[in-house]
Amino acid sequence: EKVNICLFMQSILRKMEPAFESKGVKLEFICQKETFAHIDPIRFEQVFLNLLDNALKYSDTNTLTAIEITKKENIIDINVRDQGHGIPAEDLPYIFDRLYRVDKSRSRLTGGYGLGLSIVKEIIDAHGGTISVESQLNKGTCFKITLKGLYDENRFADR
Ligand code: ATP
Ligand code: MG
Repeated sequence: EKVNICLFMQSILRKMEPAFESKGVKLEFICQKETFAHIDPIRFEQVFLNLLDNALKYSDTNTLTAIEITKKENIIDINVRDQGHGIPAEDLPYIFDRLYRVDKSRSRLTGGYGLGLSIVKEIIDAHGGTISVESQLNKGTCFKITLKGLYDENRFADR
């Protein structure tokens, strides 16, 4: 299905906004207009809900979560960046594995099964995209998704 990624993300952010607001985590959204991709919107909503759920769960109050969508040629970049707890370097290779959680003691307090990111990865893979992560302990985490975009249909209209 052809989806306007900016509008799509906006509708997801509207759903998450109350939760961010009540924890005092600021949401920022930047998107390049006319960014289209062929995605399954139901599954992709799950991707962003899982990433935003993590950003919120692993951030403290008075921090910022920023979503930035840019496109270059036919590639769409989606960054979800938080200023949360960060992930230790030794754990980074495993966070997309099923049931993997970094801090087993913290895990009981924050809930969760360690499934969110494995589902995210599965959906991105099924769309032929990529996902990677950069993180610094006590500084924050950035998930980077790349997707093949669709050219603007009017691009060659004058030829
Ligand atoms: P679930 O998503 O199933 O509720 P979960 O959030 O623990 O549980 P994942 O979303 O798969 O599981 O994340 C795996 C682990 O990676 C988490 O337990 C957490 O330690 C770490 N993690 C994921 N996202 C972040 C983030 N934005 N900041 C810090 N740590 C993160
Ligand atoms: Mg999660």
